[in-house]
Amino acid sequence: MKRVKIKDLLHNKVETGSDVTIKGWVRTRRGNKNVSFIALNDGSIIHTIQIVADVSVFGEETLKPITTGSCICVTGKLVESVGQGQNVEIQAKHIDVYGTADPETYPLQKKGHSLEFLREIAHLRPRTNTFGAVLRIRHALAYAIHKYFNDQGFYYLHTPIITGSDAEGAGAMFHVTTLDLKNPPKNEDGSINYTEDFFGKETNLTVSGQLEGELGALALSEIYTFGPTFRAENSNTPRHLAEFWMIEPEMAFYDIHDNMDLAEDFLQAIIRYALENCKDDLEFLNKMYDNELIERLKFVIENKFIRLTYTEAIDILAQSGKEFEFPVKWGCDLQAEHERYLVEQHFKKPVILTDYPKEIKAFYMKQNDDGKTVRAMDVLFPKIGEIIGGSQREEEYEKLSQKIKELHIPEKDMWWYLETRKFGTAPHSGFGLGFERLILFITGMANIRDVIPFPRTPLNAEF
Ligand code: ATP
Ligand code: MN
Repeated sequence: MKRVKIKDLLHNKVETGSDVTIKGWVRTRRGNKNVSFIALNDGSIIHTIQIVADVSVFGEETLKPITTGSCICVTGKLVESVGQGQNVEIQAKHIDVYGTADPETYPLQKKGHSLEFLREIAHLRPRTNTFGAVLRIRHALAYAIHKYFNDQGFYYLHTPIITGSDAEGAGAMFHVTTLDLKNPPKNEDGSINYTEDFFGKETNLTVSGQLEGELGALALSEIYTFGPTFRAENSNTPRHLAEFWMIEPEMAFYDIHDNMDLAEDFLQAIIRYALENCKDDLEFLNKMYDNELIERLKFVIENKFIRLTYTEAIDILAQSGKEFEFPVKWGCDLQAEHERYLVEQHFKKPVILTDYPKEIKAFYMKQNDDGKTVRAMDVLFPKIGEIIGGSQREEEYEKLSQKIKELHIPEKDMWWYLETRKFGTAPHSGFGLGFERLILFITGMANIRDVIPFPRTPLNAEF
């Protein structure tokens, strides 16, 4: 008999009275001498379905290996449930045990393990309610993001993961090489001779698809990337991963205001999608981890984001009377504590900050006429801080190449990027959204390691 998913049974897609086959992992088995109740989960939904097995039919010995964590296949009759908590249940007629899970050694024997402990068993944690919920939401968000851009006429551009330029400027990079690290070929001056490496030059894992994204936008008008990005920074924070996923839309003919409009509409649309399509999982997370979660998500889609300049934000912070760990003064990079003060205490709404000092932002951002600031925009969210970083890009050849010279970025890395400004340049803008930061916000989880299946952080790449 064809397997039915538990989600379809609980959503009444199958008529009661019919025989069904379900497969999944046992959460609990309890009961007495006469009858056994098995709670089965197959990951299709957070809930379990109850299986009722008559001990006189199956015998104690057959039921014995059906313990928490074991995997079974059950055929039986779908009936309306008399018990509380579920609408239907299954009266078992046949049970196969696919895999046992020794109660003495199965690590998820009991509920309520700490998230820290679960990180040490990342190979098994998807079987918990929490990670089931997070992973289903993660999937739904990825789908919603592709759907949003597709509906808006954007094209999905696959930018390279191995990059030949180390000038992306967004952070420290991981080298990619096939050279023998114990005995690399050397130049006369003792430096490593990369012409003998796989690509004939130094290569790295990308920190951002933006520069290549711009090439796409200046041909297809509106594109987005959605792929893995890598940063070799040794930052052990609850909001940084060494390998994370980034969504980077890039749009020709958008100025910074169009860019902000898109970022706001996009974030609200994705959050709305989650509220409409991930109800059960969000309710679980709301109950278990963050009682204000659903309220906060609704608040963000119902209120316009506040927009102000970096300079205005500095004034607010300076006049706040608050003692920050990092003192505030014009020109400083904003820390998470500053961002969160603005969002959580001052405005109590998401904030988009623009026009940052040019010294603290990347070389490709459009220079303002004041000579001091660039057309950057960061979107700041409650509990997260920076969730999006973006800008209008410098489209003038002269200004961009001047800036590249000032920063001593080698021309050999940048010639192709500069050529877009030489041939048919256009005003354009874009931004980068860290996928895991978005998932953190939407799930209410506190640590970024708990919203990606297999986190990569300093000293951690076990699973
Ligand atoms: P931060 O200041 O928070 O370290 P950033 O300014 O270095 O971030 P950008 O280069 O602007 O980040 O990257 C765009 C987006 O990617 C950020 O707004 C954030 O959502 C996300 N992001 C950046 N670094 C990381 C990381 N190490 N792990 C997870 N997400 C990240
Ligand atoms: Mn940034």
